[in-house]
Amino acid sequence: MRSSFKDGQTRRSVLSGCACSLTMLLPTPLCADSDRGCLTASIEEEGQSSPASAQSANARIVSVIGSRLLSVLGEAAPTFDYEFKLGRFSPSASPDCLNTRATIRFPANLVSELGSGEAVTYVLGHEIAHVAQYVASSNLKRQICQGRSVDVRTYELMADAISGWCYRILFPGATSDIVLSTISKLSDYEFSNAAHHGTVTERISAFNLGTSASDKRMRLSVVNLVNNIALFEEAIFPSRQIESFNSAQDKRDYYLRRLFVSPRS
Ligand SMILES: [Zn+2]
Repeated sequence: MRSSFKDGQTRRSVLSGCACSLTMLLPTPLCADSDRGCLTASIEEEGQSSPASAQSANARIVSVIGSRLLSVLGEAAPTFDYEFKLGRFSPSASPDCLNTRATIRFPANLVSELGSGEAVTYVLGHEIAHVAQYVASSNLKRQICQGRSVDVRTYELMADAISGWCYRILFPGATSDIVLSTISKLSDYEFSNAAHHGTVTERISAFNLGTSASDKRMRLSVVNLVNNIALFEEAIFPSRQIESFNSAQDKRDYYLRRLFVSPRS
């Protein structure tokens, strides 16, 4: 990773499904009522390889789900300008190093391949989370813009946690089974690669950390997360754990209280 978080190199799965069935899964209204909603988003289709009707349906899906994710993110992250680009390229989130704009790329075909609104929400939420990380941490953005190395795995897993938090708000009754299956299928197994995103177990653990926070109605602060890297790593990586706990639930609650913001009483 040099100039952005790229998540597509190892995404090879091909799932059955079609854009039309996805569209049917989407509730109305089309646009979220948010200053980050679809009114400020534009979709530029790059290098299309599918029929125009399928591209149009996929673009609409990305726009709607992206708007909903950004609306849910709300005050959890500083405001940023963004642009969705739909095309052949791998999923990625690239900051504009001169301002707060960012570009989120989403492969048009991946919308169809994922085959469910839940799975698209998870993947798109992960990319939007990267943008939130950039604007929440000027240090991280500086490192990326200067081509310096960062701990890819930690920020990737944090993006999974942020996506999990958003996902649970948008799908409060879902079992997460579709997303957990998607994580398993999309994860890379290049453990010694500097761009490794974490094992399936780590990615699911991170996603579940986010959903658990949502379940407890805890608020997300991306600034708080990026400023507590070591604590986040403790929560995800057993080898980094300093505290001892009587149960897995005690451990989960301990890190939730420190990484997320308790609801107002
Ligand atoms: Zn990523």
